[in-house]
Amino acid sequence: MEYELAVIGAGPAGFSAGIYAGRAGINTVVFDKGNGGGLAAIAPNIENYAGFESITGVELVEKMRKHAEKYSDLHMYEEVISIKKNNKDFTIETTNDKYKVGAVLLAVGTDHRKLDVPGEKEFTGRGVSYCATCDGFFFKGKNVAVIGGGNTALIESIYLKQVGCKTVYVIHRRDKLRAEKAYEDEAVEKGIQILFNKIVKQINGDELVKSLTLKDAKTNEELELPIDGIFVSIGVIPQNELAKQLKVKLTDQGYIIVDPQMRTNIRGVYAAGDITGGLRQVVTAVAEGAIAALSSTEVLGKSYPY
Ligand code: NAP
Repeated sequence: MEYELAVIGAGPAGFSAGIYAGRAGINTVVFDKGNGGGLAAIAPNIENYAGFESITGVELVEKMRKHAEKYSDLHMYEEVISIKKNNKDFTIETTNDKYKVGAVLLAVGTDHRKLDVPGEKEFTGRGVSYCATCDGFFFKGKNVAVIGGGNTALIESIYLKQVGCKTVYVIHRRDKLRAEKAYEDEAVEKGIQILFNKIVKQINGDELVKSLTLKDAKTNEELELPIDGIFVSIGVIPQNELAKQLKVKLTDQGYIIVDPQMRTNIRGVYAAGDITGGLRQVVTAVAEGAIAALSSTEVLGKSYPY
């Protein structure tokens, strides 16, 4: 099959790219290994995307999906396995088919970082979760802990309190949160208990999670915290495997290096959204997706007035 542009990843950056590319007359396919939406889809609440004072991540990405499918072919649950650069085009192999495309836009985003402690893998889905929006409801009336000290950890803890969890802890490895002060204030006001200087050593249980073994970073003392649910919220890692296949240049942290037009070092390969690092907001992803899509006109023999 042939398309002019393949967008890989259907989060806000990918959907936005699909809209802008389609409207510029570029025959575009958008792939996603899942149902799309990216990490934005699991945000309990988005309150800083202009025009929407408060909207759930699911609602916002569903609006984007409906909008994008007017202009591009959305191929959900079709994972891109490999990309090869040829002389003048690219060959893309997916779980379903093979495609020839003129340009590639990597909007592949990031994935949850793992704690890598004993018990994490075994208890995933049995008390360990990476998404409060998806699983918080199952812990109504129970005691839960959110691991991490960033914005996401604090937002998730507030959400867990809101869905009716009994005691909500935030467990952070340092003595100062990374999260914005406003989120810290709201969490404290809602009765969330923030435990500082606590390092997760192990997750314990039988069929389900029962407790967390924590080590105090200052005194080295260990303590066991009885808990029913653990939400790991310790940041993200870039999904850069396809970029590596194409020999796209990455930062030391593994994010794709782009110029202001969202070009990578490989002609015909563009990137947008969280995979480029930076602010990692829905609004920046959407903007980068638009710029990258329109920049691809330069290799597709099309013009765009900008
Ligand atoms: P983040 O800001 O990178 O924070 C990750 C947190 O996890 C940090 O507190 C870090 O501790 C901790 N951590 C990392 N590895 C750990 C480990 N192995 N064990 C224990 N703790 C560990 O990640 P995020 O909260 O997911 O946010 C990602 C990006 O999205 C950020 O740029 C954030 O600002 C943005 N975001 C913005 C909003 C908003 O504006 N409303 C909402 C959500 C996310 P240290 O602090 O010690 O490093």
